[in-house]
Amino acid sequence: MSETKSYSGRCLCGAVSFTAEGVNGEVHACHCATCRKWRGASMLAMGTAAVDFTGASNIARYDSSEWAQRGFCRNCGSNLFYQLKDQGNYIMCVGAFDDSPDFELCGEIYIDEKPSGYDFAGEHSRMTGAEFMASIGSGDSTS
Ligand SMILES: [Zn+2]
Ligand SMILES: [Zn+2]
Repeated sequence: MSETKSYSGRCLCGAVSFTAEGVNGEVHACHCATCRKWRGASMLAMGTAAVDFTGASNIARYDSSEWAQRGFCRNCGSNLFYQLKDQGNYIMCVGAFDDSPDFELCGEIYIDEKPSGYDFAGEHSRMTGAEFMASIGSGDSTS
């Protein structure tokens, strides 16, 4: 695991801002149909150890499945995070962070659900949904 740092970010309107701890800069893309519908396109996100929100009352949450929630600003609609209900840690949308040259695309999942009209460049892992599920030892979908 690479070194982790803390990074700041905010939604488009600024009603929600945050500092995320334990960020390793490793961006993962998810092409699943749920992420694409929610995000408007494939989702780029990074894991965190902890997130301290300012303006948390402006965060709306949507249950995208029995086991996960997605959070967004109720004022401007900016997508902020994906969170597994039983784990609690935030997987933050990369676009919510203030830009950093440290962020690097390290993997793609649900490559079998990616629309054929675009690809992400670079050498990194590309797993189908089934391969990803096997890698985390789960029979559930992540949506
Ligand atoms: Zn906002
Ligand atoms: Zn997804």
